[in-house]
Amino acid sequence: MKKTFFLKQDLSFWTNWKWQLQNRITTKEELENFFSLSIQEKEIFDKAEKIFNFAVTPYYVSLANPSDPHCPIRKQIIPQALELIQTSYERQDPLYEENYMPVKGVTHRYPDRALWYLSHVCPVYCRFCTRKRKVGNSFNTPRKEDWKKALEYFQEHKEIKEVILSGGDPLSLSDTSLSYLIGELKRISHINHIRIHTRYPVTLPFRITSELCMIFKENFPIFVVTHFNHPKEITLESKEAIRKLIQEGNAIVLNQNVLLKGINDNAEILKDLFYQLVNIGVKPYYLHQCDEVYGSSGFKVPIQEGIKIMKQLRGFISGICLPNYVVDLTGGGGKVPLPTDYLIKENAESLIFENFQEEIFKIQK
Ligand SMILES: *Cc1c(COP(=O)(O)O)cnc(C)c1O
Ligand code: SF4
Repeated sequence: MKKTFFLKQDLSFWTNWKWQLQNRITTKEELENFFSLSIQEKEIFDKAEKIFNFAVTPYYVSLANPSDPHCPIRKQIIPQALELIQTSYERQDPLYEENYMPVKGVTHRYPDRALWYLSHVCPVYCRFCTRKRKVGNSFNTPRKEDWKKALEYFQEHKEIKEVILSGGDPLSLSDTSLSYLIGELKRISHINHIRIHTRYPVTLPFRITSELCMIFKENFPIFVVTHFNHPKEITLESKEAIRKLIQEGNAIVLNQNVLLKGINDNAEILKDLFYQLVNIGVKPYYLHQCDEVYGSSGFKVPIQEGIKIMKQLRGFISGICLPNYVVDLTGGGGKVPLPTDYLIKENAESLIFENFQEEIFKIQK
């Protein structure tokens, strides 16, 4: 549909990732070429874009159904009223990432792994982003002189077994920069493996080029954790990106997604998403409770609701399709798994469980 708006302009550039980035829709006026916005939505847009940048790729917007106000793509990109409100429990930096930052850009919260914030650019700014305090704002991006300090930190801290390239989106960096950074990390002998957190396969799949995959292949094993939230995001283009990552890049691809109100807070949608992910070679890794970041209350699904959804999945679908449902504790507590209570009673010698079909079983301790 709306792809034609761009195709009329220039067909050959559609699959060029740099063209997609340069031609992102960044203003309300441009957005109105795709969606009719209500007066209220326009007012919200003006206020929301001052709090958190607005951008969406032509590719990603083309997945939306402009005539459906509940379209899961639309809901992830268009600012909504609750974004303008900070509830009492919401924070600027819910995970205290800035407090666990020994070197600019590096969050070292867990003993064996460190997260490295490398870019403020994302193809699409997801309205529920946990890092919206800094994503989209070039002021916070580590520069080349900061890279050196971060690499020295990783080198000196022998307990670090894994470095996670993150952002923003680390794949916004050039192939040359990525090749350099991954190569430098590979050279550090105590680093066991490298992980990349990216939403490019979802929001701009053309970024996954054969040249990029070659860098991954040369540095095997690269773990790529992507972020599909809804089955509508699994398209021919994103499938091809995943195929390339796996077959050309020899990457191991996982998915983490956020439980989002009105978007995927439903066992049937998640089941469909997880089956489709496994079908294209992606292992569902985490289902995240939405972080308590300012302006996120419109996306929040109550934890008890999330637990109920997980109970509708566990046992009913292949364990390979099932992610762990986790919450990252506000205040920098780190991630904890959310309990689905199958153990219902404990006696002196036995444990009583309810199985996935709500039948009761007793086993010895
Ligand atoms: C989530 C996260 C990680 C990775 O945790 P895993 O459970 O290994 O996926 C690492 N560092 C920080 C700061 C994180 O928030
Ligand atoms: S891709 Fe990730 S970092 Fe970028 S805006 Fe979306 S949630 Fe935030």
